[in-house]
Amino acid sequence: MPYELGKTILKTLTENNFQAFFVGGFVRDRLLGFKTEDIDICTDATPEEVKKLFPSSLATGEKYGTMTVFIDQYRYEITTFRAERNYQDNRHPGNIVFETELAGDLGRRDFTINAMAMGLAEEVIDLFSGRQDLKQRLIRAIGDPLQRFKEDALRILRAFRFVAKLDFELEAATKDAIELAMPLLGRVANERIRVELTQIRQYPFRQKAIRLMVDLGIGNVFPEIVPGLDFLANKANLSLTESEFYALCFYLANTDIPDKWRFSRVEKRQINAIIAFLKQAQEGSIDWEIVYQHKLATSLSGEKLLVGLKPTIYKRGRVQSLWQSLPIKKVSDLALGGNDLKEYFPGNDKAIGEWLALAVKLVNSTRIPNEKIALLDYLKQHFRK
Ligand code: ATP
Repeated sequence: MPYELGKTILKTLTENNFQAFFVGGFVRDRLLGFKTEDIDICTDATPEEVKKLFPSSLATGEKYGTMTVFIDQYRYEITTFRAERNYQDNRHPGNIVFETELAGDLGRRDFTINAMAMGLAEEVIDLFSGRQDLKQRLIRAIGDPLQRFKEDALRILRAFRFVAKLDFELEAATKDAIELAMPLLGRVANERIRVELTQIRQYPFRQKAIRLMVDLGIGNVFPEIVPGLDFLANKANLSLTESEFYALCFYLANTDIPDKWRFSRVEKRQINAIIAFLKQAQEGSIDWEIVYQHKLATSLSGEKLLVGLKPTIYKRGRVQSLWQSLPIKKVSDLALGGNDLKEYFPGNDKAIGEWLALAVKLVNSTRIPNEKIALLDYLKQHFRK
């Protein structure tokens, strides 16, 4: 379906005397027989000309000449042929010169398998032997690999992403260049690195990709995630959320969250909560107090990691059943409030908080029912001076 709709876009462009091709990941995936929903199209029409032909299109990256057409739930990115020059900081293209040439556009792409174009008649334009590399299951940089990774070090992680997605091998010269260029990853913003790492972790062949990353020296740049990566590559093939992944990494590396990863306050809180859960649960077993303190989501994340770390000790399901059996899941579930206590136990708010925590403990350890009178009586009897 998305392909048929995409063809109508190509048709409109060519009928108006523009060149237009499917390009990039879509062509790669189509030749491999995979379905892709995001379709990239390249053309010699300028963004203004694209806008005239597709009035509903939106400039989603006009600086780079990209217009996006939305049809049904699909998005089609139409980009004017371009060649990027003057790389300055290993990441951002300097001048972007519109080129009326498909070859220039394809040549600036990262890997041969990502640099094929396909026209309306399904003819494949393959200037860099991408089809052969698809057949041989190789990820090969276009041109001088070291130069290409120096231009844009993020391509290093993109190479691992395609290993994780396709189960391909790194071509020898590309692999050597990655090893040499790896330190340049240190200059790429960590937010971008996080996005790539997240994608890598979601693909089926993530263990293979992670192992390669570690072997080729990612630890020289990000030593704090290596114990976590090692664990995921060799011990447990877990599918983790971002917070779970970084909690695992920083817990195993026994380090605070390094500032350079630029987590938001909410993210930091989540990561630290999971780490705290791991530390508490490792000291004893998982009991209701840990689950009550950390609540369900954090406890489930912590349990998932513990089951991976120590499968003989921890089993999945305990957190869920403890949580379900808790009569009090938060203080406000108590049949007793701070005001009820103030009457009998005068004191400051901190003291009241402690009485309430005690009441939670009494009910959750099932010694007392969650009823106001019963709780007050018990507290008066046992604790009033
Ligand atoms: P997937 O759909 O599996 O994520 P993709 O190949 O579509 O793969 P995108 O990140 O959407 O990945 O990139 C689209 C295309 O743009 C790539 O196929 C490649 O041709 C080109 N490209 C993307 N990023 C770069 C880059 N950093 N350097 C060179 N070319 C790139």
